[in-house]
Amino acid sequence: MGELRGAVAVVTGAGRGIGRAIAEELAGGGARVVVNYSRSKEPAEELVQKISSSGGEAVAIQGDVSDAGQAARLIERTVERFGRIDVLVNNAGINIDRTMKKMTPEDWDKVVQVDLNSCFYTVKAALPHFVENGGGKIINISSFVGQAGNFGQANYSAAKAGIIGFTKTAALELARYNVCVNAVCPGFIETDMFAGVPEEVQEKIKARIPLGRIGKPTEIARAVRYLIEDGDYITGQTLNVNGGVYM
Ligand code: NAD
Repeated sequence: MGELRGAVAVVTGAGRGIGRAIAEELAGGGARVVVNYSRSKEPAEELVQKISSSGGEAVAIQGDVSDAGQAARLIERTVERFGRIDVLVNNAGINIDRTMKKMTPEDWDKVVQVDLNSCFYTVKAALPHFVENGGGKIINISSFVGQAGNFGQANYSAAKAGIIGFTKTAALELARYNVCVNAVCPGFIETDMFAGVPEEVQEKIKARIPLGRIGKPTEIARAVRYLIEDGDYITGQTLNVNGGVYM
């Protein structure tokens, strides 16, 4: 593929943060973008408006991707609307942080369900369409925490590490269909997820980052675009966009 113009791209959890930046970046490159959201309709609709008013094409489609049926419906509705799917970006994610002493089995299950299981659900649903197209690109948003571990994030780090293993297996299984599957591992990025971190902890985090600053959502979006446009011979990889916080 390589060509973004006219490609149909689904971005999960695209109402805000990194997902929003990815949707804008891909739409800016001429892709027809599905802005998936779970609960917050307004920000998703507002983003669709913004993309449309700058000459792009986008549609907001509701669906909780942690539910297998809703994830499949999201893909179905995409194909109903645009006739195909070329790019799938699994971005939706949550965190419920506490040490294992306090973490409940429900905290564990919820994060694994949203962050990891959703990737299997969307990929499985999109697979027949990628095969029919003769190719495609799947990008799963993991985290450096899945590579390094992080205090108070047993559930999140396990889910994000799981994404890396899933990405490699999906890359192996889908290579014969010319589908490239890669993971992007962001470091600390300026979003609502990061804004929830107490200020003194934010300062300590910055001190740990060799490049000395928090990353921007657009920097993750550019990496995703690179894998779509220039990644025809890149599959099963993890692209670390983290300011050097994990090497
Ligand atoms: P965010 O909380 O700002 O955005 C996450 C989005 O996912 C929200 O729009 C939310 O509504 C949506 N979402 C949550 N559950 C969903 C579901 N079941 N179905 C559909 N949508 C759902 O977070 P963000 O910082 O933009 O993170 C985006 C991705 O990047 C996540 O996978 C996150 O784990 C990962 N990440 C973020 C950072 C960071 O520092 N912000 C670092 C590494 C990785």
